Amino acid sequence: MKRPQDRPRSGRILQTTLSVAILLATLFTGFSPKMLTGDLSDKFNLLLTPRSGANPAIPASERRLRIGIVAGHWGHDSGAVCGTELNNTEEVEVNYKIAYLVQQELITQGFQVDLMQEFDPRLNGYQAAALVSIHNDSCTYVNEEATGFKVAAAQSSHDPNLANRLTACLSDRYGRVTGLPFHAGSITNDMTGYHAFDEIDARTTAAIIETGFLYRNYDILTQHPDLIAKGVVAGIICFVNTESVEPTHLLPLTP
Ligand SMILES: [Zn+2]
Repeated sequence: MKRPQDRPRSGRILQTTLSVAILLATLFTGFSPKMLTGDLSDKFNLLLTPRSGANPAIPASERRLRIGIVAGHWGHDSGAVCGTELNNTEEVEVNYKIAYLVQQELITQGFQVDLMQEFDPRLNGYQAAALVSIHNDSCTYVNEEATGFKVAAAQSSHDPNLANRLTACLSDRYGRVTGLPFHAGSITNDMTGYHAFDEIDARTTAAIIETGFLYRNYDILTQHPDLIAKGVVAGIICFVNTESVEPTHLLPLTP
């Protein structure tokens, strides 16, 4: 026995189709897009917009991971300065060249990269997957030990594990790519208490790298900035891709 609501399937579909047809006819008679205002107009546009990708409301350029690079001293001062025997080279020039090359390489690899000045207004509340500030150490002769690079993370890091991962990745990959030694002995308060660390959003993992000593590492820093940049990029990629990295015992693990 059939109950009244058990009409044949085809009948129900036909009825639905007819209802939709009548509704559409009603809607489109004398219809003009200008008639739609506010919410209704937005909903209509959403319906008409083809959906491709995860979230059509966010442009593709905004979905790329963001990285911040600070060119140390840029826009503020010269940083360390070399003597005449080393062409009066200023740290800021060297930092900028490296930072620019890092930015270009990361863009090529699909990241969104902000190249920033030392006291860039964008640092205030800055949000990104990582922020790396690039500096170099003195251009005066200290001793034969004054060679190599240093890395330090933000003391006030929101997530110390992530901060340690970033410093481990930078130290390991930078050392491998450039062949420069890690110079643990001279991590200063200028590095661990670096001003930008307090300005950025606490969720942004940040580190500062001194890519070398301008005096002892002058040749590689000024003649092969591409190699230096490659080392920094490899460290950042290691971090954002959560590649495995050996814990480095020489890391300046700040409390
Ligand atoms: Zn500096």
